[in-house]
Amino acid sequence: ATPTALLVGTGRGAQLGLLIKGPEILESTKKVDTIVLDKTGTVTTGTMSVTDVTAINYSETEILEFAAAVESASEHPIAQAIAKATDHEQVTDFQNTAGQGVTGVVRGHEVRVGRPSSTLIDALLHPFQHAQKIGGTPVVVTIDGVDSGIITVRDTVKDTSAEAIRGLKELGLTPILLTGDNEGAAKSVAAEVGIDQVIANVLPHEKVQNIEALQAQGKNVAMVGDGVNDAAALAQADLGLAMGAGTDVAIEASDITLMNNDLRSAADAIRLSRKTLGTIK
Ligand code: ADP
Ligand code: MG
Repeated sequence: ATPTALLVGTGRGAQLGLLIKGPEILESTKKVDTIVLDKTGTVTTGTMSVTDVTAINYSETEILEFAAAVESASEHPIAQAIAKATDHEQVTDFQNTAGQGVTGVVRGHEVRVGRPSSTLIDALLHPFQHAQKIGGTPVVVTIDGVDSGIITVRDTVKDTSAEAIRGLKELGLTPILLTGDNEGAAKSVAAEVGIDQVIANVLPHEKVQNIEALQAQGKNVAMVGDGVNDAAALAQADLGLAMGAGTDVAIEASDITLMNNDLRSAADAIRLSRKTLGTIK
């Protein structure tokens, strides 16, 4: 493609709400055959809400208050759902472990909220597994080292995501959902939008490994994401696409930013690149 044609293409991209880092990016976009999608904030709105609380040792209200205090210091979508679910006190000694959860001290108690760190007792394991089965995201609340409750949050699929996946499939791309969330929640979102392949329970550093594995199979991989934990995978992908409302690191690691946060724009980007390159051969 001539430099002029590519420049015209990036200009057309801007009209479509695509911020393309350089004209040469349209060249790499043309070969993409696989598109990996982060779930939370990319396929879903990322605005989660609390749907259920199970408590042992403490009351449901206390479990939620302890958890909300710690989560108020985190920006994770799960944290935001829990923090806004109730009034809460201050947290001290806050710590965040990416892809795992958060800890802090509340009212003199050491509180942890996150993935189970050890095998759950039956009174918590059953509600935890049930929540996953019905497509929720349960997290464990541990107080002074004792698992004491489960809080389940749920995410909503963006109303344009199903159409976006249809568009990507029409372009001949294979969509894959990649998420740190559990398999039940991932499969429920995948089914709702028409994605057949799901990779769940992925730790932040494993996202990039999954992209590399697909590339090792000879795939030309695009990745769409928004989070801090997506940045390395976005950089590794043959084409990285970030949501405009995503974190700065995700945007910096990407080739194209979807300014309108609409997944349909991912298909627009690939269509544009094929058109731009096709017309000037
Ligand atoms: P995603 O790919 O959906 O953005 P993450 O890698 O951020 O997922 O998180 C994976 C899992 O780690 C979550 O589903 C949750 O179990 C746990 N987790 C991460 N951050 C938090 C938090 N702030 N509070 C509770 N649990 C968390
Ligand atoms: Mg995300």
